Amino acid sequence: MENGNTAVARPGHPKGLWVLFGTEMWERFNFYGMRALLTLFMVNSLLMQEAEASIIYGGFLALCYLTPLLGGFIADRYLGNRSCILIGGTLMAIGQLMLFFSASSFGANMGLAKSLMWVALFIIIFGNGFFKPNISSMVGSLYPKQEKTKLDSAFTIFYMGINLGAFLGQLICPLLGDVKSVDGIRDIHAFKWGFLAASVAMVIGTLVFLFLKDKYVVTPEGRPIGGLPKNNTAEDFEEGEAQTAKFSSKSIGIAIALFAGLFIVFQYLLIDKIGFSGLAMAETIKGIIYPIIYAAGISLAFLIVSDTSLTKVERDRIFVIYIISFFVIFFWAAFEQAGSSLTFIADNQTDRHIFGWNMPPSMVQIFNGIFVVMLAVPFSMLWDRLRNRGKEPISPMKQSFGLILMALSYFIIAHNVKSLGNDGLLAVKWLILLYFIQTCGELCLSPIGLSLVGKLSPKRFASLLYGVFFISNAAGYALAGTLGAILPATGDKFKKASELGIDLQGVLDNKIILTAGQAKILSDAQLPVSYPTFAGFTIHNLFEFFMVFVVLCGIAAVILFSLTPWLKKMMHGIR
Ligand code: GLN
Repeated sequence: MENGNTAVARPGHPKGLWVLFGTEMWERFNFYGMRALLTLFMVNSLLMQEAEASIIYGGFLALCYLTPLLGGFIADRYLGNRSCILIGGTLMAIGQLMLFFSASSFGANMGLAKSLMWVALFIIIFGNGFFKPNISSMVGSLYPKQEKTKLDSAFTIFYMGINLGAFLGQLICPLLGDVKSVDGIRDIHAFKWGFLAASVAMVIGTLVFLFLKDKYVVTPEGRPIGGLPKNNTAEDFEEGEAQTAKFSSKSIGIAIALFAGLFIVFQYLLIDKIGFSGLAMAETIKGIIYPIIYAAGISLAFLIVSDTSLTKVERDRIFVIYIISFFVIFFWAAFEQAGSSLTFIADNQTDRHIFGWNMPPSMVQIFNGIFVVMLAVPFSMLWDRLRNRGKEPISPMKQSFGLILMALSYFIIAHNVKSLGNDGLLAVKWLILLYFIQTCGELCLSPIGLSLVGKLSPKRFASLLYGVFFISNAAGYALAGTLGAILPATGDKFKKASELGIDLQGVLDNKIILTAGQAKILSDAQLPVSYPTFAGFTIHNLFEFFMVFVVLCGIAAVILFSLTPWLKKMMHGIR
């Protein structure tokens, strides 16, 4: 039944989109600004090893994308999107402030600084969980049924907001927080200003939403969107559609058992598979948090399809979401090297001069945001043009393009680092090219995926399915942590070791047997004593490291591409 006064599509986009754009922009400023600094802060101020920082970073990001499930659930059942966005924004602002305190206290009291950091990350994880799914699903809710065709372009605009924020955060926070003197010595006390800027950005974002939501984030008839769930009316649902998800206690029981079983299996597979021990927190994250993420994603996916009210078409479409969710894991695992290994490479083995200016290492990742803002509209025009000619690829095919571009970006850089050896510097232009190609891939995959989940999900499962989709991002980030930790020693490490009188190459190649004293010197200097390994392969150098991503994303791309005709059928008319 079409409701008379809402049946006509309005021209253009509703003003509420711009409010969500602005809110998300400031929130992503806070998130990505912090992300630029976090691993460098851990290594330089809190004196962690790079591998340890990568694992913690992967675990942190992964949890940031697991909690959206909780945030989505609480919004759908109890609080509504609006309140959850305000709670999430406030939590994240507090978390960033705690990072500021951590970065203010580390010299005098390392124990306190580390504890503050854990608390801060914990708060940010929950803040993001409340914020992220709710703002994304509100974008979808702004458009009544007859305007759903605008969703792709709405998400493109929203995605630009995300990346404008990322760009600003990765500009301002590194300028304030990642400060090096002319002779390259880092001011390890500066990080705090970057974290403070992130906190201020989050306060601004929360206020933007608080003051503008009632006026603009409304339906065409002026009803608030994202209010308390008990105020939802039948108009918010498709005709004949069940309004809430109902799971039998049997399927909930099976899902819980499945979760427990999978947790044990993943724990068995993950623990001690990468060769560094004694890093207590990193081990905990690998052994507990990563298995939780992987197991949660699969058991939730099971729970949703066990719902008996699902029709065959709904179920098929949900399976498409699952298949896509699996493949994007490899994309995000490769993409999220930006905040860890690629930043370490930018810091330690890159000539970062650009137009005569030596940019801070944490700022190199800014090119992703810049390129998204530049390319999002051209990409969406490209899809429009192809659509008009009847040649637009279906969404899963676009996602396979995303994966292939990711593989290509690493393939090019892998060949550029081949001749560097242990003391050569990588020209920053190669990292910029890498981010350019990755961004093209991201634009084929990420906004398309967000919009596709919105289109394929039955409304009563929308938040939960966004939850599954975000968990797959989380799984990607967990894998990113594991893979970031296999970054082999870069040139600066060999130099540092030789300044300490130790031939690191000899140590790594097992040609030198370390004395206990030398081993301690290396560990105090945060230097590795063996080559990292992954899946039975030893990673000797940057070339091999980058090729891991080429292989993973390349294989994923080919398989996804070959599945597209079948997926097209399962989508039943949705593209
Ligand atoms: N960069 C995008 C964002 O921050 C996408 C991240 C993701 O979906 N994993 O929203």
